[in-house]
Amino acid sequence: MEKILQISGLSKRYNGVTALNNLTLEVNRGEMYGLVGPDGAGKTTLMRLICGILKPDEGEIFLFNKELKKHYKSIKKKIGYLSQHFSLYGDLTVDENIDFFAELNNVHDYKSRKEELLEFTRLSPFRKRFAGRLSGGMKQKLALACTLIHVPEIIFLDEPTTGVDPVSRRDFWTILSTLRKSGLTILMSTPYLDEAERCSRVGLIHNGQIILTDEPKLIIKAHNLQMVELICKPQHRAVFILKDISTIKSINVYGRRIRIALEDVKRDMPDIASKLNQENITWSERNITPSFEDVFISLIEKQAVK
Ligand code: ADP
Repeated sequence: MEKILQISGLSKRYNGVTALNNLTLEVNRGEMYGLVGPDGAGKTTLMRLICGILKPDEGEIFLFNKELKKHYKSIKKKIGYLSQHFSLYGDLTVDENIDFFAELNNVHDYKSRKEELLEFTRLSPFRKRFAGRLSGGMKQKLALACTLIHVPEIIFLDEPTTGVDPVSRRDFWTILSTLRKSGLTILMSTPYLDEAERCSRVGLIHNGQIILTDEPKLIIKAHNLQMVELICKPQHRAVFILKDISTIKSINVYGRRIRIALEDVKRDMPDIASKLNQENITWSERNITPSFEDVFISLIEKQAVK
């Protein structure tokens, strides 16, 4: 598999705050790689370093087998970056925004590319509309079209669907899938674990390091978590008791339901049951299949207690 991005030993500090800490990452051509991690984990910093907007304190970044700092000019032409603060011009139309970004990137003869992008982002009917008057989802699609006008080989999307309504989010994902089929490599960060699960590989980033990277289904399998869902009365007291039980690897409350992760339900449940009984808590329980989100939360919690 051809490596399109190779990063090793990457560190970045802001006035003594470590944002990235000796991070290593490789992305293959054609992948859709998802970066997931809590706020402040280092996702935006990583993307800015890869795009050459920030300089690392240590480490190396290779794109297309070329070192970024030595070949920035030629590499820049082949990458696209959709930042969280990507700014469209509200008083320019959809068409004019694309023209503007094409010219900014020194792209000539982009008319047919523009038609193609308008077509597959389904923005053609709105091409004369001012960008300031588009819905949130449409703005994001236009920003994506602007990011793609120079036909990059890899794009970096920093939380592209944050704040976008669920229908537009689905629409955006359909577009990403089409792009991927066309051979584009995508590195994206997302706070939505259901989105991460749709990536070919994900990297879990925490405290400036990638603590785990693999295909989502292999991450679930390898962690071999067993989940139990409890409905307890009184719930508040039950959560208080459960939080103190060391065999419980993670605990999350969704409305009336309490989800706990265990290594071995058969082994660990009797002790949990007797502790709940001692406190006169009544409950019902059922075993459930862990989702990617369950595994992710348990991994982050494990890191937090380290
Ligand atoms: P994420 O995108 O995962 O939320 P960031 O890359 O934005 O994470 O931030 C990583 C860490 O670096 C955080 O602790 C954040 O507070 C810090 N940080 C980010 N940008 C700056 C900055 N410009 N100045 C100081 N600290 C920063």
